[in-house]
Amino acid sequence: NKQVILRDYVEGFPEESDMDVTTGTVRLSVQAGSNAVLVKNLYLSCDPYIWNRMKKLAGSYTESLKPGSPISGYGACKVIYSGHQKFKKGDLVWGITGWEEYTLITAPETLFKIEHMDVPVSYYTGLLGMPGMTAHGGFFRVFCPKKGETMFISAASGAVGQLVGQFAKLTGCYVVGCAGSKEKVDLPKNKFKFDDAFNYKEVTDLAAALKRYFPDGIDIYFQNVGGKMLDEVLLNMKSHGRIAACGMILQYNLEQPEPVYNLTQIIAKQIRMEGFVAFEFYPQYPEYLEMVLPQIREGKIVYVEDIAEGIESGPAARIGLFSGKNVGKQVVAVARE
Ligand code: NDP
Repeated sequence: NKQVILRDYVEGFPEESDMDVTTGTVRLSVQAGSNAVLVKNLYLSCDPYIWNRMKKLAGSYTESLKPGSPISGYGACKVIYSGHQKFKKGDLVWGITGWEEYTLITAPETLFKIEHMDVPVSYYTGLLGMPGMTAHGGFFRVFCPKKGETMFISAASGAVGQLVGQFAKLTGCYVVGCAGSKEKVDLPKNKFKFDDAFNYKEVTDLAAALKRYFPDGIDIYFQNVGGKMLDEVLLNMKSHGRIAACGMILQYNLEQPEPVYNLTQIIAKQIRMEGFVAFEFYPQYPEYLEMVLPQIREGKIVYVEDIAEGIESGPAARIGLFSGKNVGKQVVAVARE
């Protein structure tokens, strides 16, 4: 059972060398009465929140990983053995699993059964999994967008950003995104049909650039990055604008968080800035599927994935999120079936 192990708690910027790919064993014996489920991991999801879990910390909404143990995270998997009445051998499921070939899941009630197989199974780590619920819940449930509103999205070609922009376009919003390379800018511009997109690394004065894209200001900022970018966006928000505090990836690995100087704009412009976490939207997963599956089948929503092959590629794929290496949703394919 090949596994990706966290060597020790990480301080500062995580490195590939903080993880080891080793061969271990999977516990196959379960206690009488246990409802554990043994799964074969097919696709593993690389998510930025892992930054938090690799550190020794307290007071977070996620738990630290255990040094010496396989990393855990979201994945799409096949059931090999089930002690739980909801699942049977051969079922496909998604949820929290281990970064290894096989995992014994002792709390299977947290797993979602995959019922729709006419879409790629890997989508259940992204579009049809946690990032999809984040994009949809954050945008629709928290920010109630209206046709004609203007919207800016950072990390616009990533797992969450590409979806938020497409949902916004289907709502009739004017949408501009930014990303960190030409290849990543081409996606929102051409594939996801945003109104425009730009490479923020090529812009010297972001506030001035935003003024050009949004001469009358921004109604909704879907914030994935934080720091200096938030500062410049605040200067361009409309009165009563809304900021979706989805993530602050720029801040995650900095020893000193970047200061944000323009927070008084929140008062002056009566801006609402609200944070949310994906799992608060999970009770609405069936409604989400009902809405999004027809849109996928009709080609109204598309999804770009960056699939790294083999569990050995896991550490590099994970760390690549923090340098923007991924083009689309970063997935690790451990097995195809
Ligand atoms: P992405 O697929 O967007 O990958 C991360 C991207 O972030 C990179 O490709 C890079 O894009 C950008 N990035 C990385 N480091 C920096 C930096 N220092 N400055 C600016 N941009 C950077 O990830 P996700 O879509 O999975 O996540 C996007 C955000 O949403 C993250 O902040 C994440 O924490 C948050 N999130 C929040 C959830 C919640 O429940 N609230 C759930 C899921 C995600 P580029 O090259 O374009 O800069």
